[in-house]
Amino acid sequence: MDFFDGDVSRLPEWSFDGSSTRQAEGHFSDLILKPCRSYPDPARADGFLIICEVYNPDGTPHKSNTRQLVEDDPELWIGFEQEYVIMHEGRPLGFPKDGYPAPQGPYYCAVGKGNVEGRDFVEEHMDQCLDADLDITGINAEVMLGQWEFQVFTVGSLKAADDLMIARYLLHKLGEYYDYKIDIHPKPIKGDWNGSGMHTNFSTKEMREKGGKIMMGAICDALEETHKEHMEVYGAHNEQRLTGKHETQSIDKFSYGVSDRGASVRIPASTAITWTGHLEDRRPASNADPYLILSKIQKTLKSIEWDKL
Ligand code: MG
Repeated sequence: MDFFDGDVSRLPEWSFDGSSTRQAEGHFSDLILKPCRSYPDPARADGFLIICEVYNPDGTPHKSNTRQLVEDDPELWIGFEQEYVIMHEGRPLGFPKDGYPAPQGPYYCAVGKGNVEGRDFVEEHMDQCLDADLDITGINAEVMLGQWEFQVFTVGSLKAADDLMIARYLLHKLGEYYDYKIDIHPKPIKGDWNGSGMHTNFSTKEMREKGGKIMMGAICDALEETHKEHMEVYGAHNEQRLTGKHETQSIDKFSYGVSDRGASVRIPASTAITWTGHLEDRRPASNADPYLILSKIQKTLKSIEWDKL
């Protein structure tokens, strides 16, 4: 028997009804799926999850196909921090039926009954990500009760966004079994409760090998110059989250600083020791499209004259 070993070049293209996904009109609705990457499916032996791109029948990328905007740069290292809220019976897991739990403070990275809710689900998701060969590097309970985060680290720009999409897929799917709805809205609960972001850590070969305070400053300056352009693709409703409170900078301002979690871009203390390493873009919302985030970061990084730094 000819077993499929995960090599997507062996998979055929496939078509689907784009009108059912609001990607096409009913009278001309065939769209093409092109298999791009495979992952072992944690749900079954010898099963695979396949990332596909969507193309029009004439061979041009469909307008929803943001993946093709990302340049596949194997030297770009990416760490996504995906925050989300577990919703159960219409409210964050752990919230009382009426009203609110105690104010924020005891929940972040917490342990123990009353301080965290949903760890069984979160750890099962982590196990599934490991079984799918994702480099999930951690999980933590977040600042609001019922809010969690996972981190995926990936070498290579395109694979980073693919890995995140698979991790999200597994999260939503596992939620079905627990009767949990995963909310990635950037401000699911209004008021004095933290929103959800997707901090995007990035490191180019130049940043790792040469570095320098001037180089890191030049990158931050380039991000400042293109701030508006970035914000356009960093997720819907992000203005509800980026208010200048709750460890964010306002959406209409740009700032950067060492160890500064109130800044748009944080220079990690570890980077500032040797001035080599990575930067953290704190602006993307939890619901942002990772392909659009990376394509925008790549565009801005391209505008930098690296050999002059
Ligand atoms: Mg976080």
